Amino acid sequence: MSEQRVVVTGGGRGIGWAIAQAFATGGARVHVCDVDDGALGPARQLGFGTSVCDVADAGDVAALFARLDGLDVLVNNAGIAGPTGPVDEVDPAEWDRTVAVNLTGAFLCTRAAVPLLRGAGGGAIVNIASSAGVLGYPLRAPYAAAKWGLVGLTKTLAMELGPAGIRVNAVNPGPVEGERMQRVIAAEAAATGRSPDEVRAGYLAQTSLGAFVTPAEIAAAVVWLCSPAAAKVTGQVLGVDGNTETLRTT
Ligand code: NAD
Repeated sequence: MSEQRVVVTGGGRGIGWAIAQAFATGGARVHVCDVDDGALGPARQLGFGTSVCDVADAGDVAALFARLDGLDVLVNNAGIAGPTGPVDEVDPAEWDRTVAVNLTGAFLCTRAAVPLLRGAGGGAIVNIASSAGVLGYPLRAPYAAAKWGLVGLTKTLAMELGPAGIRVNAVNPGPVEGERMQRVIAAEAAATGRSPDEVRAGYLAQTSLGAFVTPAEIAAAVVWLCSPAAAKVTGQVLGVDGNTETLRTT
């Protein structure tokens, strides 16, 4: 990945931060954006480019891409879990925000990135979707709908941008050990009246491997998808999730 110019959205922490570090380790020039300025400290310390940017805000996204001096790889990673609860109790404003960050954000960043990728003679886009982008996910309708949308965007843009040498793939992480999953488990426990331990055991039972994944394992797949080794891989949706068989936890 030497000298590749890479943007990772929502890259201040979690999976995005692992992706940013993996690209940098391979010699890439990494620019990290995050809506939370406080999350960008470690990226600044390592000398990465940084921008405070809400990917759901068209003005923020335009400013981010205007600052770049070229681009080879875009990783649309920024995402939020959205509300947990039955569909008839979902607040329309929370629906809108979940779709805005997880789906519209990827559209806005891709729209701004494509002229730069064309200018570089081609490149790669990886969308961080979810197993909720290929399976139903009870009590998480806004998130599942947004991630299915992101998979649809991936398949469509692989066709539309293939002739320009721009490859577009999605990576579907399974539940990742970490802070975000703790929040997801706590919200689901509160919504269903079960204990967090029960909900956690349900998540572990969903996968063939019976294990959570690590951010580094997801990052390795993303870097490979953007490398010359994956030169003929586009339009694919790669689960890095121990094979999620279902998203039912009961
Ligand atoms: P995280 O909450 O740990 O980190 C997400 C980062 O994105 C944070 O730094 C946050 O400030 C930033 N962010 C949030 N909204 C933003 C916005 N509007 N604009 C820019 N930045 C924003 O989450 P994570 O677990 O690292 O998740 C990363 C991606 O992986 C998301 O798209 C998520 O849906 C997906 N995913 C995560 C899991 C999991 O178990 N953690 C599973 C499947 C898919």
